[in-house]
Amino acid sequence: MNNILDYSLEEISLWMKENGESSFRAKQVFTWIYKNTWNFEDMKNLPKSLVEKLKNNFYIGIPEVIETFESTLDGTSKLLLAFKDGNIIESVIMKYNYGNTICISTQVGCRMGCKFCASTLEGRVRNLTAGEILAEVMVAQKVLGERISNIVLMGSGEPLDNYDNVTKFIDLVNAEYGLNIGQRHITLSTCGLVPKIYELADKGYSITLAISLHAFNDETRREIMPIAKKYSIKEILESCDYYFNKTGRRISFEYSLVSGINDSKEHAKSLAKLLKGRQCHVNLIPVNEIKENTLKRPSKKTIDDFEKIVNDHGIDVTVRKEMGNDINAACGQLRRNFLKLEK
Ligand code: SAH
Repeated sequence: MNNILDYSLEEISLWMKENGESSFRAKQVFTWIYKNTWNFEDMKNLPKSLVEKLKNNFYIGIPEVIETFESTLDGTSKLLLAFKDGNIIESVIMKYNYGNTICISTQVGCRMGCKFCASTLEGRVRNLTAGEILAEVMVAQKVLGERISNIVLMGSGEPLDNYDNVTKFIDLVNAEYGLNIGQRHITLSTCGLVPKIYELADKGYSITLAISLHAFNDETRREIMPIAKKYSIKEILESCDYYFNKTGRRISFEYSLVSGINDSKEHAKSLAKLLKGRQCHVNLIPVNEIKENTLKRPSKKTIDDFEKIVNDHGIDVTVRKEMGNDINAACGQLRRNFLKLEK
């Protein structure tokens, strides 16, 4: 059985032809699915025989919403979703004045091992397929009853460690017959898998690339991110330059501020020097403390000083606004708490 959400319209049109059906049936099926009809039997304009064929070959892989948490502070919601095989992921919907943004997961767990991150503690369980990633957006729109206009691939998982599924997801979510979300409204965040950044640049998408930098030199970076042993900051920045030159899209650098590790004034100056002259934006993320490690968030003053220094060097910088504090716990924590309850 195949998840029909993993397929493009062209692929299902071909399937229709190969199975003795007119190819326009594919469009009919997709119209139903994208209007949130997730049962072949409810697709009223399809002949019974086709419904049977579809049921024998495909399922519509919408995950079950096991729980929704809604912030009373700012309307942020978190969805805990379960796939057919029992795997659980979380996605977060944030309401901004420019539209609804969803933060989605690309893998169940993660194998990158960043020290501050809750999603990676038990490694990678499996990749999500393109259709499963797409379903996160579809189910969120249904729960919300509103359109989602922006997507950030910043949930659990390393998107470039699941390259084929993630790029297919971008094609599907961007398709006019589908959710029709523009590439400029999609941001992909990576810990810096350099060869894949080049590959992505060559795809010619106009999505925003966000790099989890978190340090201004390799030594500090290696302390908190195992991937830094494989690729140097220099190599990452070269790949970012390539990405910018190919796509014209300004790079966004994420920098999680961890007390005593990367948050001093000297660090701020060095970061600014490193990025000087680049078309970029720096996003400071005061680290979300998790109970599985001892990493601490700097004081408000340290964060403000850091921001000011980077800004004074002419670099566009913001501190990430915290949303949904009351339902949050750190990134990936919700799923972990749930898994613990299950045990
Ligand atoms: N694997 C991708 C995307 C997922 S994480 C990546 O590494 O970019 C999205 C962002 O949140 C990354 O910048 C990540 O480093 C950061 N992050 C993860 N856990 C965090 C925590 N506890 N506190 C602050 N930032 C965190």
